[in-house]
Amino acid sequence: MVNETGIKQVIGLVKASEKIVVIPHHNPDGDAIGASLALNGVLKQMGKDVHVVSPNSFPEFLEWMEGASGVLNYEDHSTEVKHVIGNADLVFFLDFNGLSRIKGLQKVVKDFKGKRIMIDHHPGPEEIADVMISEPVASATCELMYDVINKAGWKGYLKKELAECIYTGIMTDTGSLSYNSSRPEIYHIVADLVEIGVDKDKVHKLVFHSNSFNRMKLLGHALGQKMYLLDGTPVAYIVLTDKELKRFKFKPGDTEGFVNYPLWIEGISVSALFMEHPDKIKVSLRSRGPFPVNQFSEKFFNGGGHVNAAGGEYYGPIEDAVDTFCRELPLFMKQKN
Ligand code: 5GP
Ligand code: MN
Repeated sequence: MVNETGIKQVIGLVKASEKIVVIPHHNPDGDAIGASLALNGVLKQMGKDVHVVSPNSFPEFLEWMEGASGVLNYEDHSTEVKHVIGNADLVFFLDFNGLSRIKGLQKVVKDFKGKRIMIDHHPGPEEIADVMISEPVASATCELMYDVINKAGWKGYLKKELAECIYTGIMTDTGSLSYNSSRPEIYHIVADLVEIGVDKDKVHKLVFHSNSFNRMKLLGHALGQKMYLLDGTPVAYIVLTDKELKRFKFKPGDTEGFVNYPLWIEGISVSALFMEHPDKIKVSLRSRGPFPVNQFSEKFFNGGGHVNAAGGEYYGPIEDAVDTFCRELPLFMKQKN
């Protein structure tokens, strides 16, 4: 998947660098954190001085991963992060392809004088790095990370704990290999990860079956009280206000996966989740089939993502975000047909 030139460039820059920083996107998910911590572990074993710097905090259900406790969160440790990036020779951008995806951290990164490597699987990359490994066909950035580690000759460093980070990203970005996972190569990689010692069942339990009581109650509330059909269309959506999120003691990651549930309804092929935060409305979009939710998100919600999974933001009342969605989506769907 990753071509020889890309691999050679990665090897060259890593060899020439002592201090390395690894950056996942804002609101990092299993793929972004999995890829970052796998790379962190490999580079550390090579003797590099490595830091993983996240734009903000990551969900508790990823805290079991090796190296997770060392992740520096820019929102809470901005001075230390500026110092670490200021001193680095090389930074990796993982699981994003535009600097807007790292929010406040982009100011720090723009002043950075060293080299940059991007490894990502979203379509439409911006020119943000010296080495751009951009493969939208990949199921997950973790799949690309495996490929890079393997082809660079670093497989010996991929011990069980790091293989579990890679497996987590593939598992979370493909809904446990239920979508976006039809290429046979993925299963060869998973087979190799299992041979290395990945305990698939354990990882699944840690990520998907470690919910708080409040999260399960919030899911029940969302599906029971706050899910709507858009009449005459194959569209369903969920709306959660700030008040409701507070009532269920919302923590980052608690609504992960909620947006998938409307797609379980027969005849529904587009779903959305609107979440009201104090400073903005967060929008998540999913589709089944050809409808490109990333294009819709780009046009109406300042966002982007993949054809079938995208996200964005809206600045204004949540009712207006929902109105925009309900008014524009049927028109956009007609245009795309
Ligand atoms: P989620 O709905 O799980 O937050 O994100 C789904 C997909 O959309 C991910 O691939 C993510 O990278 C992308 N995405 C989510 N939020 C944004 C956003 O605000 N801007 C852009 N460009 N992509 C987003
Ligand atoms: Mn990803």
